[in-house]
Amino acid sequence: MAKKQFKAESKRLLGLMINSIYTNKEIFLRELISNASDALDKRYYLSLTDADKKVAKKDLNIRIERNSADHILVIEDTGIGMTKDEMEANLGTIARSGSAEFRDQLEKASKNIDIIGQFGVGFYSAFMVAKTITVESRSASSDEAWVWVSSGEDGYTINPCDKETVGTRITLELKDDTEDEKYSRYTEEHVIRELVKKYSDYVRYPIIMEVEKHIPDPTDDKKSIITKEDETLNSMIPLWKKNRKKITDEEYNEFYKAKFNDWNDPLKVIHYSVEGNISYTALLFIPSQAPYNFYNTDFESGLQLYSKGVFIMDKAKELLPDCFRFVTGLIDSEDLSLNISREILQQDRQVKALAASIEKKIHSALEDMLKDEREKYEKFFEQFGQNLKYDIYKSYGMNAEKLQDLLIYRSGSEGKYTTLQEYVDRMPEGQKEIYYACGPSIAEIQKLPALDRLRDKGYEILCFTDAVDEFAVSMIGAYKEKPFRNVTKGDLDLDTEEEKKERTEKTEANKDMLAAMKDALGDTVKEVRISSRLKDDPVCLVADEGVSLEMERILSQDPRNSGMKANKILEINPSHPIFETLADLYAENPDTVKDYAKVLYDQALLIEGLAIDDPVDYSRRITELMIRAAKH
Ligand code: ADP
Repeated sequence: MAKKQFKAESKRLLGLMINSIYTNKEIFLRELISNASDALDKRYYLSLTDADKKVAKKDLNIRIERNSADHILVIEDTGIGMTKDEMEANLGTIARSGSAEFRDQLEKASKNIDIIGQFGVGFYSAFMVAKTITVESRSASSDEAWVWVSSGEDGYTINPCDKETVGTRITLELKDDTEDEKYSRYTEEHVIRELVKKYSDYVRYPIIMEVEKHIPDPTDDKKSIITKEDETLNSMIPLWKKNRKKITDEEYNEFYKAKFNDWNDPLKVIHYSVEGNISYTALLFIPSQAPYNFYNTDFESGLQLYSKGVFIMDKAKELLPDCFRFVTGLIDSEDLSLNISREILQQDRQVKALAASIEKKIHSALEDMLKDEREKYEKFFEQFGQNLKYDIYKSYGMNAEKLQDLLIYRSGSEGKYTTLQEYVDRMPEGQKEIYYACGPSIAEIQKLPALDRLRDKGYEILCFTDAVDEFAVSMIGAYKEKPFRNVTKGDLDLDTEEEKKERTEKTEANKDMLAAMKDALGDTVKEVRISSRLKDDPVCLVADEGVSLEMERILSQDPRNSGMKANKILEINPSHPIFETLADLYAENPDTVKDYAKVLYDQALLIEGLAIDDPVDYSRRITELMIRAAKH
């Protein structure tokens, strides 16, 4: 049969694998064994649920054959196998979704190999060590067997072949040894033995290899003879069934990486058992990096579900609340039926109880991490905090009570993380609200003119840099009875009685000028008024109660929300020289303040990080003012 081409992304990925400079090439064996173990899981499950597909547990295994002379390594399993179509679909393309993102990140990937692991390139990793790969497979649901052969980027062939037994046999013809890389070591007994121990010990099916044994020579007790016999290389005890105290960090890490397709160690391991109405063991992980598509709709969350050590299904999302969808891992319960389907999962009362229990455990693990491992928690929050905030918003605040104490924000002049409780505990006397300001970065927020007077009073300001931030706190409403307050919205109520009186008088005395400025700006602003929040800067733009400036900016990205506008108010600093200048100009000739009003409004927009409507007009006015000033 003619040679077929790999899909474009797969081809580039292959190229990357073949030429990989990744030093940890040995992980290819872990990947192939992990695929074999998955295939065995599927076959065993089928055998328990389909009377026609019975298979004895003892016949489920993985066999490794090695041939040092020919540089050949074989990994064979008696798993579910692949049909011709499955071979085409699974080995001709990257298994995982997200090819577009992959393409975007591929460039970066060659410099930062970390990314590769996130794309589920398991099988292809064999191309790091092999020049030719042959996959013979016979599916449990077919009488035919097929062989797939590829030597890399120039494509692959699929042809019929003879294979008596169900399962998959993968033959690697190893690359030739180079000065830097001794590929032939992967046919050495002790190397394979060590790699299986290191990466695949927990695999619940025997990984069998023929090994050499030295036994005493019965004819001459000074000599020994070498015989060959099968040996199971792995302990086969699932990691989650082992005594927690006896498991090393490295074991957890290797297990996680092998099973959950991540190149990085997990940030946090949550391993526990519960006895009770529903008994189960959980081995859960919080990744150290959000998967590349975590915040996209194609991200699939969920836990693996086992019943008495038998794999039932992957990505059971009913077991995980949305707020914690970043958690991966597995649940093994004796109390669930093997025949449980996805449909039943959605309604089952036991499953609901199980999910509630898992949620509680994750919640308290996060609380503990926040309390005892602050730095780690901050790392966690940088990756997944948005998800917590988004959940508060999406649940219309129903989950606020539950999640609010897990939130941390950058705050104060140093921009250190704080919890809401810590913020409230530090509030000086007289501060009634929790202040926050929105902007694209901490640095830009810190420069906002509206922050000055609050700072003078010793009030801290939370920095909101995520689009979801303000929407989330609007759902929380108030924390410990302290309402949240955007520093550029409404009345901050910072003045003393005396200051208030002064401001009212000044407003009264200048009301015609303020009205003329408002007139000049038309409907773009609701009001031009004297500010109580400014200290050194001339103007700022704020919003009335309701939609804030930041919310308007975010909402405007979706055309359906075009009607959601902030009621803008231009505030002028009464203690800034510009105020006297405006008053003088207005007294001389009321028309001149119109130009000033427009320029000041545009400046206020720029300070807020918002676009001005007509930059050409703005520039023209500034130039005119410069010329006028020079003539004076
Ligand atoms: P992943 O295992 O992450 O899905 P791989 O590239 O390693 O990605 O494998 C792609 C797919 O090929 C697997 O999902 C599986 O369907 C199939 N596959 C790989 N190895 C085997 C095997 N030994 N037996 C049966 N199917 C396999």
